Amino acid sequence: MSKQKIICAFCGRPESKDVMIARSGIEGVGICTDCLRTGYTNLCGEGPAGRGNVTAEIRALIRDMQLPKPSDLKERLDSYVVGQDRAKKALAVAVYNHYKRLKAKLENPAAEEDGVELEKSNVLLLGPTGSGKTLLAKTLARMLNVPFCICDATTLTEAGYVGEDVENIILRLVQAADYSVERAQIGIIYVDEIDKIARKTENVSITRDVSGEGVQQALLKILEGTVANVPPKGGRKHPQQEYLQVDTSNILFICGGAFVGLDKVIQRRCGKQVLGFKRLEAGVEQKAEADAEALRTNPLEFCEPEDLIRFGLIPEFAGRLPVTVNLAPLDKEALIRILTEPRNSLVRQYQKLLKMDGVALEFTPDALEAIAEKAVERGTGARGLRAIMEELMLGVMYTIPSEGAVLACRIDGGAVRGEHEPELVK
Ligand code: ADP
Repeated sequence: MSKQKIICAFCGRPESKDVMIARSGIEGVGICTDCLRTGYTNLCGEGPAGRGNVTAEIRALIRDMQLPKPSDLKERLDSYVVGQDRAKKALAVAVYNHYKRLKAKLENPAAEEDGVELEKSNVLLLGPTGSGKTLLAKTLARMLNVPFCICDATTLTEAGYVGEDVENIILRLVQAADYSVERAQIGIIYVDEIDKIARKTENVSITRDVSGEGVQQALLKILEGTVANVPPKGGRKHPQQEYLQVDTSNILFICGGAFVGLDKVIQRRCGKQVLGFKRLEAGVEQKAEADAEALRTNPLEFCEPEDLIRFGLIPEFAGRLPVTVNLAPLDKEALIRILTEPRNSLVRQYQKLLKMDGVALEFTPDALEAIAEKAVERGTGARGLRAIMEELMLGVMYTIPSEGAVLACRIDGGAVRGEHEPELVK
């Protein structure tokens, strides 16, 4: 390498500790990073997609985005998701704030000059399996018309600390945005099973925990905002590029998990406090009793970051998910509503299927109740409903096409409980 001093051909500054100069073909002259940046901006109008650089395209996308108010969002969620009112409200506010912050930041960058920087609020959804976590996230993204993808944190376990694996999450979003990096940069990513990457023990282990802590560390970076180098595997539209540079600072991350065992952690912590209360003052005894009851029935409502840390999330990771939304387990009444109310409810789906054979399908109210009871017993939330319906309908769907002349099929509680066959009316 030549030891000759090199100067910037544009501003004349010599190379130094503070001035980096890219060499040119002519010896002794090159271009400093400042002049390079100015030249790029003059030519392209905006900087390249990267942290802090917002392209005109993103700005236009955000400007044209119709941002519904939290109450509108909640109302629209109501027609797809049954129950979970508190979760809907909290999620609607979080999503509204996220895009409001983005609009303010991109439309009026001077707004943050007062020193108040609005931080990104990624969301953590806590709730048992089949309670509607994925459904909520998916429905919100559809309403906002932003790219959305679902990823599973457990797939990251094998190679957790290999950074690129985590970046594949971003690739999913880019694919969902039809390879538009700009659109992906304002999308929503739902990371499911986030509880499965919890550290296995609270103690610091000597060996590296690659399946839990390693993944959390890698995820942390993209959660808080970085320019991720995403390998465009199978990226038809960018065959010449080796990596897609995606800025994750405006992507909203919604993480969800069942957190089995977290209830015990919370109960243990709160239990001590409740007991302490009782001993201190008799006047607050009643409140303490009410709290104790709520703690028993829905402990996740009392979740604090320290519980998540005790569960196995590293403190930085728990801190990056400041909005915690708790989904209640679905009770019998909610499950009955899920069977019938949503636009593509299971009952409607099976009615449509049988209608194609000219058969009217009817479920009596006690049949719906019996199905919901079975689902509660299985403990898999609304997820269990489909399997129960499938078992129940198998015989009917097998015989009806060959029976001929069946006009209607009536299913009551007894048929669900297996006491007799569903009634076929000819
Ligand atoms: P999870 O909480 O495990 O992410 P999902 O959101 O994937 O659960 O729910 C599984 C299925 O159950 C969904 O496809 C949906 O049809 C149904 N479901 C779950 N919760 C609700 C709900 N609150 N309202 C309507 N349907 C629901």
